[in-house]
Amino acid sequence: MTHQVHIIGGGMAGSEAAWQLARRGIRVRLSEMRGANLPGGGDRTAAHNSDGLAELVCSNSFRSDDDEKNAVGLLHYEMRQCDSLLMAAAAKARVPAGSALAVDRDVFSAEVEAMLAAQPTLEIVRERVDVLPTDGLTIVATGPLTAPALASSIGAATGADSLAFFDAIAPIVYRDSINMDVAWMASRWDKGAEASLAMGGDGRDYINCPMTRPQYEAFREELLAGDKTEFKEWEASTPYFDGCMPIEVMAARGVETLRFGPMKPVGLDNPHWATAEHPNGRWPYAVVQLRQDNKLGTLWNMVGFQTKLKHAEQVRVFRTIPGLEQAEFARLGGLHRNTFLNSPTLLDRQLRLKSAPHIRFAGQITGCEGYVESGAVGLLAGLMTAAQVAGRDWSAPPRTSALGALLSHITGDAEAETYQPMNVNFGLFPPPDPSTKKKQRKEAYTARAKADLAGWLPALG
Ligand SMILES: Cc1cc2nc3c(=O)[nH]c(=O)nc-3n(C[C@H](O)[C@H](O)[C@H](O)COP(=O)(O)OP(=O)(O)OC[C@H]3O[C@@H](n4cnc5c(N)ncnc54)[C@H](O)[C@@H]3O)c2cc1C
Repeated sequence: MTHQVHIIGGGMAGSEAAWQLARRGIRVRLSEMRGANLPGGGDRTAAHNSDGLAELVCSNSFRSDDDEKNAVGLLHYEMRQCDSLLMAAAAKARVPAGSALAVDRDVFSAEVEAMLAAQPTLEIVRERVDVLPTDGLTIVATGPLTAPALASSIGAATGADSLAFFDAIAPIVYRDSINMDVAWMASRWDKGAEASLAMGGDGRDYINCPMTRPQYEAFREELLAGDKTEFKEWEASTPYFDGCMPIEVMAARGVETLRFGPMKPVGLDNPHWATAEHPNGRWPYAVVQLRQDNKLGTLWNMVGFQTKLKHAEQVRVFRTIPGLEQAEFARLGGLHRNTFLNSPTLLDRQLRLKSAPHIRFAGQITGCEGYVESGAVGLLAGLMTAAQVAGRDWSAPPRTSALGALLSHITGDAEAETYQPMNVNFGLFPPPDPSTKKKQRKEAYTARAKADLAGWLPALG
């Protein structure tokens, strides 16, 4: 069977993309390296354990299934509306897990494979692809552990600086949960005002959280004592540490290391500490800086705070930072092996490589994070390609939906300079009407998303 679309990678994204195309009668070749008859046996990533399609490599949970108050639950809802393969297989493989959607991973993978195998226009081929195809519609969905030869080929096509092999995730805080009676906006030495103004800023681009000496010393102790996640064996032997050192490792290098690094206070007058003698305020002993992370201005990342602290520890320790006592985190920090593109600069709004538009990317390699998000981006890549094959104009999902918010973030709305993998969260959505009461905001996001999505579905074809 000659194919119309070649999908590389039969994980979460590749399987979902294949389904969306095949059920529209489009001829697809799905290449998956696991189970391949290669010299030395079938190939494996360091995290996969089976030859099954859509293998869940770690947790068996798709997280919250609450589509009224939770962004990932809303994404489940929207995927179901789009006839998602992964959501259908999850329904069959579901195990009890409260309000979360958890599955038996073997049943889930077997369901995905059976549903795909039943598609007459889909050919599943167990082969490793080492080079990006030079022509023909292609979806690359090879995930965070893309095989090395293909990763090199992608690197050559995109530029080495645009393909990362590790993430270094600093926590991201919702802007409206920061106490600005304690924190303040300023750039160091008020520098960069011209560039800031040109970008629509007002010259005070950072949110600064001040610390006294006792606060700094206590905070450093918390970083050192905090419970950390261990590196996996295949991560520990990697050399990325120097470029993006975890904050707690920096803290361990010496009492002053952080004050001369990411917590440097110089040039940052704190106006909350103004006196008659110092009308502009004084420099704190140390400062935690946050930088805007999305165009909407709803998400702010803690500069230089990539960390291996466990998630609960991060929340506890980072809420001791003055101004962040009530902080709500859109994303917590981490460091992992993770192959991903600088999508906001490399991809167009349809996930196509600008320099080679016959190639689309899907899944975690685009810089989304998580099983569900990877599947969702695979679903979108499948729908976009289906529209292209049918000669139809592509109509993007509404920006107010979870699908639309995630897609917009990946394809241009995220800050390219600090681009790191991202879960779906309400900070990616345009804010609801300002009159909405804080307690009703989540329901406002989800109700608006569902209404807008219903208007978009007929355009799918
Ligand atoms: C160790 C680890 C643990 C994770 N744990 C979780 C978790 O608990 N929860 C969560 O939500 N997310 C987790 N993630 C993040 C992420 O959501 C998953 O990795 C998810 O499976 C990504 O989906 P994907 O389709 O992009 O990639 P994958 O599901 O990894 O699929 C990519 C597929 O491409 C194949 N492939 C790679 N290179 C080639 C090639 N050259 N030729 C042919 N095939 C190839 C691979 O064998 C694989 O089957 C984890 C990631 C890692 C690395």
